[in-house]
Amino acid sequence: MIAALEPLWRRSRRQDWATLTERPFDLIVIGGGITGAGVAWQASLHGLSTLLVEARDWAGGTSSRSSKLVHGGLRYLPHGEVRLVREVGHEREMLGRIWPHLVTPTPFLIPVYRRRGMPLWALGAGVWLYDGLTGVAPRHRRRMLGPDGVLALEGDLAQQDLAGGVSYYEARTDDARLVYTVVEAARAAGAVALSRVQAREIDLTPKGGSVEVLDVETGRTATVRVRAAVNAAGPWTGEVDREGTPVVLGRGCHLVFAHARLPLQNAVALPAPDGGNTFAVPRGRVTYVGTTDRLYTGDPELPDVPDEDVAYLFRVVRASFPALDLRPRDLLGVYAGVRPLVARAGKSETRELSRQRSIEVRHDGLISVRGGKLTGFRSVAADTLAFLARGGLRLRESREHVEAVFDPVRTVQEAATELGASRAAAEDLVFRHGARAPDVLRYAAERPEGLDPVANGCDVLWGELDYSTDHEEVFELSDLLVRRTALLWFGGLREPEEVLRPAAERVAERLGWSSADIGSQMAACRREAHLDRLAELRHLSL
Ligand SMILES: Cc1cc2nc3c(=O)[nH]c(=O)nc-3n(C[C@H](O)[C@H](O)[C@H](O)COP(=O)(O)OP(=O)(O)OC[C@H]3O[C@@H](n4cnc5c(N)ncnc54)[C@H](O)[C@@H]3O)c2cc1C
Repeated sequence: MIAALEPLWRRSRRQDWATLTERPFDLIVIGGGITGAGVAWQASLHGLSTLLVEARDWAGGTSSRSSKLVHGGLRYLPHGEVRLVREVGHEREMLGRIWPHLVTPTPFLIPVYRRRGMPLWALGAGVWLYDGLTGVAPRHRRRMLGPDGVLALEGDLAQQDLAGGVSYYEARTDDARLVYTVVEAARAAGAVALSRVQAREIDLTPKGGSVEVLDVETGRTATVRVRAAVNAAGPWTGEVDREGTPVVLGRGCHLVFAHARLPLQNAVALPAPDGGNTFAVPRGRVTYVGTTDRLYTGDPELPDVPDEDVAYLFRVVRASFPALDLRPRDLLGVYAGVRPLVARAGKSETRELSRQRSIEVRHDGLISVRGGKLTGFRSVAADTLAFLARGGLRLRESREHVEAVFDPVRTVQEAATELGASRAAAEDLVFRHGARAPDVLRYAAERPEGLDPVANGCDVLWGELDYSTDHEEVFELSDLLVRRTALLWFGGLREPEEVLRPAAERVAERLGWSSADIGSQMAACRREAHLDRLAELRHLSL
């Protein structure tokens, strides 16, 4: 029965595994977050035979737990990090050209209050400089606003002492989808990419060597011959390279509310008493608020969401939107991620540590990439390739095309008018699947209840869950509900717990899970999505 249901991706994975020992690779990249996926993609475009291995699911680490902003990093400007600002600003534009469905311009509003933070004129000058450095399109350049202009955009903002504000543009994405999209691009450029494969023993010299990899699914190991290796293991970078500069972890938490309870049209910067960078970002049926930024010394696998961080975010969001009276019982989701930051002598606060990456080459040639951002991943990859070239690998001219080949607006229309999806479902599908969205819809239409939403008030369709299970390397329930669709955090579900069983049973039919498997998959998914913690936090008295 299992063989009859076997999705095609499982067969390709077996075939890929079988080829690992047949030939040497120019490069192995360890870690399938945005950094590793980006290096593998760019290396393949430059003609290197590349193997990308990810021990968990694609984006199973920090790259599915960020604030999901492809931003030029305005907040780095006061720290004089001009190079970082210029680079990520340029990247924001490039990513929007390559994947216009997934990296979408979003209006941002920074309200300014008297006697708090930067004066309006100084902020206006900073954003003007920022727009210049990041090369934004004229229609997206900053607008200075008086108090009435700010309230016309977001009428629920606190009015007392409001001096005005600045409206400008950043971009929003879905981080886990971005990683998956880059992994697919790497494959299309020739890379072999395997999730649930862990790199173990690294036996390297500057001229090459081998890396032992473990298939977490089957327990098999293989020794892969390589000419070079890149460690892009994010928070685990120090585990892969114990000799390098240590990584410091900074934890950031987010809260998710129904859009109806925090009904924003713009992403809004929320002034925080300690100068922290906190935003509220609307995304379809929800608005999420984050982030905190504190030193974290626990296991990076599943950072928890402490009361202290939740209380902090509530203080900040309530101060900005007092009339909305947001309560813990309004929470639809919570999540936490850890930033891999580069340790610096004399800096104890994670906020003091630069978000710039560091690239280190070990005596045996292992290249470790630490720090960095979601946004600047292409330039991190370019710098890493420069190190590989210096180490003796020959790079061909890149075959990258940066011009978008499809029009998201037209695709949404096609999905909605020709294929009968609601406008919201069509937009949601195109956001995740881009040009493939109409195929996903056709696939959904052929399955029982495929065009029905997973729950009332939610835009994810049962048929999309089928499509992802059958095509997108879903091993675990959380791969599907946390990363491929982000349903449990961003689907707008009041009781996310209620979709766990029906979703697990639907996946079970396709992947041949037993009833015991269903139980353990639900438990693991509940843990990963912090659903028990959500239930506790809803009773927190604040
Ligand atoms: C709260 C928060 C908010 C953020 N917001 C933003 C934002 O809005 N915009 C932005 O640009 N950036 C943001 N960032 C930063 C950004 O998310 C990170 O810099 C980025 O995701 C790090 O990606 P990575 O690939 O280096 O690490 P990861 O995504 O953690 O990937 C490393 C991967 O390596 C794998 N791995 C580990 N060991 C092995 C092994 N031995 N073999 C194989 N695989 C292995 C792990 O499973 C993991 O998937 C945020 C970060 C946080 C924490």
